Amino acid sequence: MTTVDEQRTDEQRTAVFRPAGTPEGLEDLRTLVNTAIDTLRDAHLVRGGPVLPGGPPAVAEAARRALEGPLLPERPQAPDEVFRELIAAYANWAVDLTHPAAVARMQCPPTSVAIAAELVTATLNQSLHAWESGPFALELERYVVRELAELAGYGTESGGTLTAGGSLSNLMAVLAARDSVVTTPAGGTPFADGLANLGRRPVILCSDATHFSIGRAVGITGIGEDAILRAPADPTGRLIPDELDRMLAELPADTVPVAIIACAGSTDEGWVDPLPELVAVARKYGVWLHVDAAYGGGMLLSPRLRGRLAGIADADSITMDLHKFGWTPASTGVFLVRSARSLDALSQQTTTLNADDDKAAGYYGLYADSVQATRRVDALKVAVTLRSHGRDGMAELVDRCHELAGHAAERVAAEPRLELAAAPALSTVLLRWAQDPDLERADAFNGALRRRLMSDGTALLARTRVPRADGTNPVFLKLMLLNPATTTEQLDLVVAGIVATAEAMEAESAGTAAAQDRPVPDHGGA
Ligand SMILES: *Cc1c(COP(=O)(O)O)cnc(C)c1O
Repeated sequence: MTTVDEQRTDEQRTAVFRPAGTPEGLEDLRTLVNTAIDTLRDAHLVRGGPVLPGGPPAVAEAARRALEGPLLPERPQAPDEVFRELIAAYANWAVDLTHPAAVARMQCPPTSVAIAAELVTATLNQSLHAWESGPFALELERYVVRELAELAGYGTESGGTLTAGGSLSNLMAVLAARDSVVTTPAGGTPFADGLANLGRRPVILCSDATHFSIGRAVGITGIGEDAILRAPADPTGRLIPDELDRMLAELPADTVPVAIIACAGSTDEGWVDPLPELVAVARKYGVWLHVDAAYGGGMLLSPRLRGRLAGIADADSITMDLHKFGWTPASTGVFLVRSARSLDALSQQTTTLNADDDKAAGYYGLYADSVQATRRVDALKVAVTLRSHGRDGMAELVDRCHELAGHAAERVAAEPRLELAAAPALSTVLLRWAQDPDLERADAFNGALRRRLMSDGTALLARTRVPRADGTNPVFLKLMLLNPATTTEQLDLVVAGIVATAEAMEAESAGTAAAQDRPVPDHGGA
């Protein structure tokens, strides 16, 4: 008995599959891209805010409607219809990163040229692991990494790789530090021999402001999260070099200090640890100095701000994220090492990739510089973004975000019912509604305020805690300003919207029904 499929002709069978890279496939793609652009524009107009109102129940209902029926139906369905329906729901319920009140997370609104590069990247689907997986992509990655290394002040012996983000870059940093600093009793690397028979405890030193991805990296690399020693910080949260020196001098003999993790642009406040002094301490004790500049690395692009990163070129490794300051879509992580040789531990694995005779003839890939095998190309969107903006253009974008933070902070400081944590160091503004002297109730109110702003679709803010000199650690709401297209007037409206919502909530809890329908200011399109 012949099945339905066996009765089909070759032509009918292949008609189901049209790769995007063929002339016919590209015509399909052109139509789909036009649909996508129209849908994205419509969604932008429909939203009218940073996110649609209604919160979790509304998005769950939208998903139920858009996704009802099997995602893998028995029979094929017309791609353009499937596409139009799904992307419309997806786009309508997306966070609009171009909106001035979408200031919660470290997500930038990417530029059109970067997105167009992503279309090319995805269509050609190159990979970086082997020469035959993407020959030009490999060259491009090397040029981009070299340019970024030079930007950081690294020399020709430096190395690095683009990664899937700051967390992965930090993992590579801890890996490189571990295998550069620790030698096993057998004379090998922890990568090969493991840490079990070390007989000494490797430790990592950092501050409380260190991003949680470092803790994860330390756990994953087998050093163990409990081996993180938190060093005392100054009132702004910055590491104190003398304290680190003292800690290192006083370490028990059965410990091996592996790395100091410095922060250049702390996640909440944007502070930079004192890098030149930390370099000196790291050198004195022979430990690795990693600078997590996932957020603050963007200051390298600004002549006005880059002085704050003085000393970074002497660090052993650097994490940077161009999907934060950089205006390329996620993910665009960067991991740089002062000496390319410190990535050797990863490359010592022998695989069928990069055979010696192929390598000698120039046919080699970059699988050894990464923890991935198949690796997508992130360099194209970076290259077109950097070239099309130039140094001046990139500097302007970074400076603009910094200025916007300064403006928003002034606006917050001028509002007596809001408390500003500190003058912004980079592009964050930390504020809280400070009407209730009872700290617990005030924390609960600020938490509820943030949720109300989200469910109303008024503003998307982040939430954190900020230690104060009086020993308290209250909840603060955070504005992360990464959209240089925002105007100061729009920012004023964002702050006004926060105040109006807080007032409405206070009036509601006081039982003043009249305040319930108080309108929240409109942000003037954007
Ligand atoms: C964002 C950030 C990270 C994590 O980067 P991802 O790209 O989100 O993985 C690590 N460290 C710092 C300081 C960051 O700001």
